[in-house]
Amino acid sequence: MVKCHLYSVNLKIMSEIADWDSDIVLAARKYALQNALEYSGKGQTGSVLGRLLSERDDLRPIVRKLSKLVESEVDSANTLAKNEGIERVKSELERLAPEALEREKHRKAEGLRELPGDTSRVILRFAPNPNGPLTLGHSRGVVINSEYARMYEGKVVLRFDDTDTKVKPPLSDAYEWIEEEYEWLAGKTADVVIKASARMPIYLEYAERMIVKGHGYVCCCSAEEFRVYRENTASCPCRSKSASESLTDWKSMNDGQMAEGEAVVRVKTDMSLPNPALRDWPALRIQHTPHPVAGDLYKVWPLLDFQSAIEDREQGVTHIIRGKDLMDSTRKQTLLYDHFGWEYPESLYWGRVKVHEFGGFSTSGMRSSIESGEHEGWGDLRLPTLRALRRRGFSARSIRDFWIGLGLTQKDISIPMQTVEAFNASLIDSSAERRSFVANPMVLELEIQEASRKVCPPRHPDGAIPGCRKWEVGNSIIIQSSEVGIGKVRLKEYADVIISEGVATVESEERSDQRPIIHWIPTQIARTAELSIPESDEVRIVDGCVENFELEVGEIYQLERVGFARLESLPEKGSAKFLWLHG
Ligand SMILES: [Zn+2]
Repeated sequence: MVKCHLYSVNLKIMSEIADWDSDIVLAARKYALQNALEYSGKGQTGSVLGRLLSERDDLRPIVRKLSKLVESEVDSANTLAKNEGIERVKSELERLAPEALEREKHRKAEGLRELPGDTSRVILRFAPNPNGPLTLGHSRGVVINSEYARMYEGKVVLRFDDTDTKVKPPLSDAYEWIEEEYEWLAGKTADVVIKASARMPIYLEYAERMIVKGHGYVCCCSAEEFRVYRENTASCPCRSKSASESLTDWKSMNDGQMAEGEAVVRVKTDMSLPNPALRDWPALRIQHTPHPVAGDLYKVWPLLDFQSAIEDREQGVTHIIRGKDLMDSTRKQTLLYDHFGWEYPESLYWGRVKVHEFGGFSTSGMRSSIESGEHEGWGDLRLPTLRALRRRGFSARSIRDFWIGLGLTQKDISIPMQTVEAFNASLIDSSAERRSFVANPMVLELEIQEASRKVCPPRHPDGAIPGCRKWEVGNSIIIQSSEVGIGKVRLKEYADVIISEGVATVESEERSDQRPIIHWIPTQIARTAELSIPESDEVRIVDGCVENFELEVGEIYQLERVGFARLESLPEKGSAKFLWLHG
């Protein structure tokens, strides 16, 4: 049990805190005070949760419960700042955890460690393939890079890696989508935006320079032939060609005289390197498929490792943050940089994060399932696209808090979507009004002898949003059909009734016994509604009625007893359409 002598915490919260180990409560309190101090009494639950989770990885499985604790600690710290001033917060933090006061300026971004190397002029990059809009997985790159740019007053280059015209060809619309999604997540536009396909002359020129200097050559072996040489640490015959012979082949490649697969340009490394992937790796290949944006102007296109290496150099990128599965890319590119006498940027790695519900999706897989009609579009509620998550009501802030909290761990992690949902719930809970939603509705007559015909359910149960919803009660009500048979029930916030033969008769306005409380709506303020819930193989639609009280399209409501949902449309005729967000 922890003493809470400083705080005016209400008894309900106190009893919940009592369930926690004192070290967890103290850690939550430390970060709540620290966050309140840094943000002048306006600490945020999501940020504190992120810091706490980066210190206590073991708490991730109970993140939902934890967010309640964090919320109450953030409230207390913010209240302390408001009532007794920020100096009081500082002295309390000093007493509780002096080390937390000494966080360096850069550590202000929760969960992210400092960047290595020279950080006086930080340039980062986020480089998606525009073969579809961004997914939750991509959002990590946007969040982490933009957060580091913010910390170091640096820049992010948004670079479209779109030089593959065959296997994962770009989608013309996706460029604009991604720019917009980047802005939504980062809270600002990218500092520089470039398309690799628009910078082809640069890559081709570097390739030629590499050949001229003897650091690369045109290899006309088949993939299979070269594989055998590579495995045997032997040079292929093309390796010993003179630069001018290679240049002649290079020109034939570019003129379109060579077919796809007939030749590649290789970076000359060392055929005896222990890692076979690094032995004379391929840098450019022939592609005759036209590019959706650049057309058929070019016959030779760089592979990602070459294009990315050259462009990082061109843009002056100082820090590259990438998956640890791309460590070989770093090694290959470093060998290329050595040829040119350049210094390779600092590289940081993260492990794979797998969100259970979305483990099986890839951008190209989604693209074909949309084309085949299996999914209705990129905003299909079942997909892990940012478009679908935004449509349902996830906030950019929740996604940022989630990734920043996770930091740059190299550990592979598998988590449920609930973890992201907990961040979102902590951000929206106090601003989402409550509404009554009755699934599978049934109309009952209502008999009232002596009871008010006015009901005033609160907009928010804790009073976070003041005021109430004004209901007029007429001669009928709607309840869930499965609850008709219960007999004696209490209509929430209203009266005890007895139900018999399609009639509900008010027995008492006061609660007179322990009969179950049910949700209901006076018929005159009800309108039909449908709630779409994404499930793994279908979008399930729940038909029901919602109270028609100050509904606004785009708003997120907590449908009582159901969960959070966003109102997507409110047509003049027909059902109000809600999309499931989370519980
Ligand atoms: Zn060869």
